Amino acid sequence: MTNHAVVIAGGGPTGLMLAGELALAGVDVAIVERRASQELAGSRAGGLHSRTIEVFDQRGIADRFLAEGQKAQAIGFAGVHFDLSGFPTRHPYSLGLRQNHIERILAGWVDELKVPIYRGIEVTGFAQDDTGVDVELSDGRSLRAQYLVGCDGGRSLVRKAAGIAFPGSDPTTSNLIAEAELAETPPEWGIRRDALGIHALGRVEYEIRNGEIVYADHGPVGVLVTEQHVGQTTEPTLSDLSAALITVYGTDYGIHSPTSISRFTDAARQAASYRKGRALIAGDAAHVHPPDGGQGLQTGVQDAVNLGWKLARVAKGTSPESLLDTYHAERHPIGARVLRNTMASIVLRREDERTKALRDTIAELLGMDEPRRRFAAMMSGLDIHYDLGEGHPLLGRRMPDLDLVTENGPLRVFTLLHDAVPILLNLGEPGGLDIASWADRVRLFDAKCVGPWELPVLGAVAAPNAVLIRPDGYVAWVGDLTRLGLAGALTTWFGPPAAA
Ligand SMILES: Cc1cc2nc3c(=O)[nH]c(=O)nc-3n(C[C@H](O)[C@H](O)[C@H](O)COP(=O)(O)OP(=O)(O)OC[C@H]3O[C@@H](n4cnc5c(N)ncnc54)[C@H](O)[C@@H]3O)c2cc1C
Repeated sequence: MTNHAVVIAGGGPTGLMLAGELALAGVDVAIVERRASQELAGSRAGGLHSRTIEVFDQRGIADRFLAEGQKAQAIGFAGVHFDLSGFPTRHPYSLGLRQNHIERILAGWVDELKVPIYRGIEVTGFAQDDTGVDVELSDGRSLRAQYLVGCDGGRSLVRKAAGIAFPGSDPTTSNLIAEAELAETPPEWGIRRDALGIHALGRVEYEIRNGEIVYADHGPVGVLVTEQHVGQTTEPTLSDLSAALITVYGTDYGIHSPTSISRFTDAARQAASYRKGRALIAGDAAHVHPPDGGQGLQTGVQDAVNLGWKLARVAKGTSPESLLDTYHAERHPIGARVLRNTMASIVLRREDERTKALRDTIAELLGMDEPRRRFAAMMSGLDIHYDLGEGHPLLGRRMPDLDLVTENGPLRVFTLLHDAVPILLNLGEPGGLDIASWADRVRLFDAKCVGPWELPVLGAVAAPNAVLIRPDGYVAWVGDLTRLGLAGALTTWFGPPAAA
C-alpha cells in the first residue's frame, strides 16, 4: 500500500489548487483523478474574478493566467453590470479564460511542485480509523493517508461515503450546454430570453474588444439552451439538443458533430459539514448552485486556499486538529452566500411582468453607489470577511497588496506570500517586534508602507502598526503600539510558542 500524508480525490480546479498549497507547505500530497488527462470536455467556467486573480498573485502565478486571458468588466447581478475600475486592488477586473485553460495552467504549476497525479483512476471508497484513511482505487489498489479531501465535484463520492448530508433545493430549470457545428448560420448570435428561460448561441472563439465580446466568424459554436422539462436523468444526446433548439428557435440550425453535451440545473445544495473526521470536502463537492455570476470555480479555488495551509499544519503535527474546524466555520458562510445570490438570480431571470418589475426595481437600487459597490465586492470576492472577532476593519479581511519599502528595497505584500508562509509585518519602529518563540513558523519583516490603506466597500481605514497575515492572505491580527493579543493570535493560528 502506498502512503501519502494527504490524498485528494479529483484534480479539477479545487483539487489542483489544494495540491499546490499542500506541496508548497512541504506536505506529501497526491491527487487521484478519474480523467486520463487534464483535457476538459466542453466549456464550464469562463474566467476568473478579481479575488481569485489576487489569490494566484499571492502565489506568484497570476501572470500565467493574465498572459492567456482577456481582461473585462464581467461582474454583474440581475442584469446589472458592475465596473470594478475604482476598487483598491491591482486586479480591478475579471479575466476571460476558459476552464480548460485555467486547469491546464494550474496543472502545470502542480507539476512543477512535483505532486504525483494518479490519472485515469477513481476513488471508489474509503475507510477511516484513528490514525488515517484507507482509500480504495478503481484499479484495485489502495492508498493510505492521514487525510482524504474530496474535490471530486458535485456528485462527490467522498461526501456521500462520509455520510455528509447535502441539503438544499431541487432543480426548477434544466439547461443543455454543448459545443458543436451548425450547418446554418443563425440570424443573430448572443443571448435570448423567453418564458422558458435563457438561451445563447456563440462561436467558441471570441475576443473582447473595448469591453464587448466579438465572436469569431467561423469554427465550433457554443450552445446554451433551456429545456422544456426538468428531471431528465439520462446523459443528454444530440437529439435532446436538437429538440431543445427547435422548441426555442424553431430550428436546430442543422446542428451536428458535437464535441461535448452536458446538462446543468439550478439545484442549490450545500454540505451540512465540510469535514467528517479525516475526510474533508471542498469546491463543488461541498456546494452546487446555478452558474449565475460565475462563482463556482472561484469559490472552490478559495476553499482550497483556506484549507491548504491549515491541513498542512495539522498533517505535519504542528497544529491541533481543531484548526480544521475553522475551515468549515469560515468557508461554509461564504458558500451559503453564493447559494443565496445564485438562487435569487435564477428567480430574477423569469420573463413574466411581475419579475421584470422586480428586476427593474433591483436594477434601480443597484444604480445607487453604496449597493453597487457592495454587490460588486461580493460578486468579485473582494469583500470576504472571516469572523475573527471585533477589532480593526482589516481583521479577517484580505490583506491589500500594498507597496512596501524594506531594507532590501521595494517589495509588494503579495510577494511575501509566494511561499505560503505566515508573515508578521512590522510597520512601526524597526526591530520593535520580537517573535523569537514562533520564528521557526512565522516570518517577521520590518517595512515602511506609505499606503493608502483602503479596503473595497469600507474605503480608507487607519494605518496599522503591524499586521499578522495568514498564508491565505487574510489578516489574523492588527497591531497597535501595545501589541496586545499578538501572542494569542500566533498561538491560535500557528501553534504554541517553542520552548525556550
Ligand atoms: C455551464 C457552467 C458554467 C459555469 N461557469 C462558471 C463560471 O463562469 N465561473 C465559475 O467560477 N464557475 C463556473 N462554473 C462552475 C465551475 O465549473 C465549477 O464550480 C468548478 O469546476 C468546480 O471545480 P471542482 O474542482 O470543485 O470540481 P470539478 O471541476 O467538478 O472537478 C472534479 C474533478 O474530480 C474528478 N472526479 C470525480 N469523481 C472522482 C472520483 N471518484 N475519483 C477521482 N476523481 C474524480 C472529475 O473527473 C473532475 O476532474 C460553471 C459550471 C457550469 C456547469
